[in-house]
Amino acid sequence: MLSTKIEGINIEQPYIGKVYIENDLITCNNGRLKLTLSPNDFLNYESGDIISIMPDGIVSILYRTSWQDLTLFVTNQCNSACIMCPQVCDNSGHFLNMNLQILELRPENVKHIGITGGEPTVFPDVVVELLNRVHDIYPDTPVSFLTNGRAFKNLNLVKKITSIGHSKLLFCIPLYAANYEQHDYIVGSKGAFVDTIKGIFNLFRMRQLVEIRTVLFSKTIGNIKLLADYISRNLPFVRHVAIMGMEYSGYAAKNSNEFWIDPFDYKEILDSTALSLYRRGMMTSIYNIPLCLLTERVRFLARDSISAWKKTYPISCNTCSVKEQCCGIFETSINISEHIIPL
Ligand code: SF4
Repeated sequence: MLSTKIEGINIEQPYIGKVYIENDLITCNNGRLKLTLSPNDFLNYESGDIISIMPDGIVSILYRTSWQDLTLFVTNQCNSACIMCPQVCDNSGHFLNMNLQILELRPENVKHIGITGGEPTVFPDVVVELLNRVHDIYPDTPVSFLTNGRAFKNLNLVKKITSIGHSKLLFCIPLYAANYEQHDYIVGSKGAFVDTIKGIFNLFRMRQLVEIRTVLFSKTIGNIKLLADYISRNLPFVRHVAIMGMEYSGYAAKNSNEFWIDPFDYKEILDSTALSLYRRGMMTSIYNIPLCLLTERVRFLARDSISAWKKTYPISCNTCSVKEQCCGIFETSINISEHIIPL
């Protein structure tokens, strides 16, 4: 069995603990086991960090209080197979126990919680249990539930989640086209468009908050105007529409020759699409695209959207006057626009 030894203690199962630093002594505690950690220049521990130590000895930071954004990763599994998925999915099951352990440590300063995967609803009972615990501990914290929405064609699942009563739960659901042929092609799964639309209507029926997300890359940019029309005509009840730049990692990186499109080259299409949604009264945001790659008149829709642990700024950004407001770029992306110029 794989295990690592710290202070003579064998770590045979993933260990989740909270970091405490006092008088230069770094310890980690999960209520059952307290360990002393060596300083680590790479991880640069801070008090309040939630870390994991795996049996192979790898230590990771799962949450820093300075992030304020707690991500609960439910599973690597998925019931779709998006051609540009930034992750490589597998059949490794779910991580409910790990997530419950993280929550029991009461991560501090949490302003937002993300529930993500894979596709979390591949394990519906896990999702219900996790959301219940999230609601117990963080009843007033906004939660973004990243899902393809297909499982919500089952109204009973929607009812179970609704009964938890978390009033700030937002279902963030991707749509890539206004028709089933193109959407199903992109998500690599026949019937996905119909499932997702049924799911969105079931969530609406149970008065849940829905955000539509769409990602811009070479295969979707031609659909985006029709999609915006479709959303504003057929799904006007959604709380928010997020138009997103692509993270070129995973399958997106593998196929980047085919998928890459510089945001600079689609900025006019994005401009007219985003403004058409906004002018029709839809709450609209642009995620993951630096301000310098947007037309001036849609910059007010741009959000600082890239998670702290994934974002970076090219050196040239140091002289930019809007760096504080800019989302930067994905550190995990293999493609970077050649048009990033300080404003
Ligand atoms: S130069 Fe850098 S900080 Fe400024 S808008 Fe572009 S990406 Fe953002």
